[in-house]
Amino acid sequence: MTDVTPLATDAGAPDPGPLEVEALEHIRALIRIDSVNTGEAATIGDGETRAARYVQEHLHEVGYDTVLVEPRPGRASVIARLAGSDPDAGALVAHAHLDVVPVTAEDWTYPPFGADIHDGILYGRGAVDMKDFAGMLLAIARTFRRDGVVPRRDLIFAFFADEEAGGVWGARWLVEHRPELFAGATEAISEVGGFSIPLPGDRRAYLVATAEKGVTTATLTARGRAAHGSRPTADNAVVRLARAVAAVGEHRFPVARTATLQRFVDVYARAGGDVDDLGFAASLINAGSRNTASPTVLAAGGKANVIPASASATLDVRVVPGQAEAVREQLAAVVGDDIEITWARDIPAIEAPADGRLVGVLQDAVSAEDPDGTVVPYLLPASTDNKHLARLGIRGYGFVPLRVPADFDVFGQFHAADECVPVEALHFGTRVTERVLREA
Ligand SMILES: [Zn+2]
Repeated sequence: MTDVTPLATDAGAPDPGPLEVEALEHIRALIRIDSVNTGEAATIGDGETRAARYVQEHLHEVGYDTVLVEPRPGRASVIARLAGSDPDAGALVAHAHLDVVPVTAEDWTYPPFGADIHDGILYGRGAVDMKDFAGMLLAIARTFRRDGVVPRRDLIFAFFADEEAGGVWGARWLVEHRPELFAGATEAISEVGGFSIPLPGDRRAYLVATAEKGVTTATLTARGRAAHGSRPTADNAVVRLARAVAAVGEHRFPVARTATLQRFVDVYARAGGDVDDLGFAASLINAGSRNTASPTVLAAGGKANVIPASASATLDVRVVPGQAEAVREQLAAVVGDDIEITWARDIPAIEAPADGRLVGVLQDAVSAEDPDGTVVPYLLPASTDNKHLARLGIRGYGFVPLRVPADFDVFGQFHAADECVPVEALHFGTRVTERVLREA
């Protein structure tokens, strides 16, 4: 690392130790490996495998046995295990995905795979999603091994391919074909959460995702009488469908008081936060508080002078935990009796205890590095690899700790041009994660 520019230091932030310096090195090295996942086999290179090999080599170097699984050329994941001291404690899966979403290079000020640092900010695809955590985990795994640190629980370090396209060749494939790699695991830690959002009085809330919404699609079909376009009919499928789509677009589903939402409101309010004024966290929190249905695809007709007999619309439906049945009834009421609804197979929502031992460990680790930090559970409105691990009974948490300035919107960096993260936030995250993995 010869091109590290002087960092803009936060008053009071400790100097980075060898662990933080090493983590930053790995994060930058991984960003420089272009592992874009386009979701289409024809345009995906071998970046994920090159990243997995980088991780594997650095784990081997300190004596780990690793398993590298490559179900399709170029789509590798790598797993290693470190034994803990308490044989009765279930293993913890600490995981990160090695793929990133595509970039439009001309939208970037800095090279997306350059890992440049300017004014203490690291730029590059994967800076927060999520080569940051991959680099932290790799540095911590190596340090534990080198220094003979024995964590309380078995740790399973997992670096997955293909998260950004649903984990088909990554976590999902491993869960379906190599479940023994996760034997004994009861909990997992990964994205999306851990970053700070401001609380009054220069204090911070650190969000931890204890639940994720489920995903499904609904297809609305309207039927009518086919007719010539020159003779309008009251029985027009396109018109009927359009009314239903508009009703869905205008509908707000009721707030679902899940355990996670209740816990968020309680803890955030107790910490002095105003739940009605969440700043840039509002969209994230609000989307997790109710079911949503977004019309995304329309299909009707094929000729200007023919009124078609049917018309259909596809809705992207996101479902809070415990609402899989309720959302079907709610949507049927919104679109009315003259619309047929067919549902695709669900990817169920997941919800882990928001008050278990691990959440206490997260709080202790944050408190040690930020005495004015409170860990607050929330419901992630999206999906991560934790959903795949949940099929093995592994309860997933989203927590990649980053202490950021009050005006820095970490979630806003996900998939964005000029994706970036303050270097000091990475140092903080490395220290907190080291504590979490040691004590979990
Ligand atoms: Zn991600």
